[in-house]
Amino acid sequence: MHDNNNHDDAKPDNSDRDSPHEVGSGDHRKLGREQSLFTTHELVGAGLPLWLPDGAVIRAELEKFAAERADAAGCRRIYTPVLAKRELFERSGHWDKFADDMFPPMRLGGEEFVLRPANCPHAALVYAAQQHSYRDLPIRLAELGSMFRSELSGVLGGLARVRQINLDDVHVFCTEEQIEAEVSAAIPQIHSAYGVLGIDVDYYRLSLSGPKRQYLGDPQLWARAELLLARVLDELQLPYRAVADEAAFYGPKIDVQVLDAGGREETLSTVQLDFNQPERFDLSYIGSDGSRHRPVMIHRGLLSAMERLVAQLIELYRGVFPPWLAPVQVSVLPISAAQQAAAEAVLDQLRVAGLRGEIAAADSSLGRRIRLARDRRIPYLAVIGEREVADDSVALRFRDGRQRSMPVQQAVGGIAAVSRSRSRSLDLP
Ligand SMILES: [Zn+2]
Repeated sequence: MHDNNNHDDAKPDNSDRDSPHEVGSGDHRKLGREQSLFTTHELVGAGLPLWLPDGAVIRAELEKFAAERADAAGCRRIYTPVLAKRELFERSGHWDKFADDMFPPMRLGGEEFVLRPANCPHAALVYAAQQHSYRDLPIRLAELGSMFRSELSGVLGGLARVRQINLDDVHVFCTEEQIEAEVSAAIPQIHSAYGVLGIDVDYYRLSLSGPKRQYLGDPQLWARAELLLARVLDELQLPYRAVADEAAFYGPKIDVQVLDAGGREETLSTVQLDFNQPERFDLSYIGSDGSRHRPVMIHRGLLSAMERLVAQLIELYRGVFPPWLAPVQVSVLPISAAQQAAAEAVLDQLRVAGLRGEIAAADSSLGRRIRLARDRRIPYLAVIGEREVADDSVALRFRDGRQRSMPVQQAVGGIAAVSRSRSRSLDLP
């Protein structure tokens, strides 16, 4: 039931995209500049984007969405530092297998610190900080963590290749018997989140070890882990491709593959199985037999890296963001300066309802201001003239051209409900 063909209900609202004000081409770098979502600066460096306020709105909403979904999936939140002593990554195996992709160490006193290339070792130490019984498992630790890659500046551009990756990351610690249930639950959670966003899965990739690269750990454990992931995909009846030499160095994974606007394949979310790091960090839980056992670690992200996801969404929506992600959700337009105070009162109500509004003051013709707001693809315009002031209403214009007059309270409540529901339609309830 979770196959690729089942995404027809998850496409962006096409009726909303037919307007003559189509924004730019499909490249997120160009769209991001045109819409003032992010920028870079030579003093900061390539691959280190600065999120401008409108882009930050989108990211913050996605982070809130990820946090809510993590809560609903039984995760607990942690915060850990973005750097650690080099020894941590020697222990995890990253230093051995991944050092070329890491920033060089920083010396401080007699110690060396490195920016982390992954959040997993910190999460493993959070698990290890307390003793756990089999009754506590699975333990699911969520962190929207920053990690770093020493990408060469030549390959950097926009949000797709960056040197700081902000990952919606979950590490599950469980018994071997729980692996199947945990992986089986993770995939539909990803699928459901993509459904909200309107992202189509191209296919699932079962990323296996192979002859070309070096992997960590016992080949027998690898074989078992790879078999298990294949079984979960079979049981979920998902079409997938098994590909050699795409695994993480510590374990096999299921990659959720999507296409960008140029038709290029990208990995968005992943679910990874790991028998190695629990071993390396000597993680344990007390079993029902009273003795120590080794948990398994599952690395999974729901929404993946914020940079990659936002790049994907910029290209998917082409500036026509659904109301919950729109940087400005409602523009309030007084017909003349006489309605400025009423417009400000409406703006206050929008803010109290948790909505992002602005006033397009009456310094030019109404027609011109409506066109400007339409060009910015603001979902709702609330026009206020003498009649609207008199009966406490607004003439609401939808981005797709529809118009409806209604009491201010009804408009504010309706738009707030659409935003809360994360619907991609503009329809008020
Ligand atoms: Zn991890």
